[in-house]
Amino acid sequence: MSKKACKNCKKIYEGDKCPECASHESVVDFKGKVIIFDPENSEVAKNLKITKKGDYAIKVR
Ligand SMILES: [Zn+2]
Repeated sequence: MSKKACKNCKKIYEGDKCPECASHESVVDFKGKVIIFDPENSEVAKNLKITKKGDYAIKVR
C-alpha cells in the first residue's frame, strides 16, 4: 500500500482513512515530509499547524 497525505491535516498514512481526523480526502502527490517529535516546541509544527507527533507532508495539493 502506498503512502498518502491527508488533505485536511497533512498526516502521512497508509490505509483508507486518516488516523488523525478520519478524513477520506487524501493525496498521493504530496511534497516533502517532516517528522514531528515535539509539536509544542517545534517551529515547523507551528507553521504547519500540527499539534500531534508523527509524519506529516509539508505540502499537499
Ligand atoms: Zn487527517
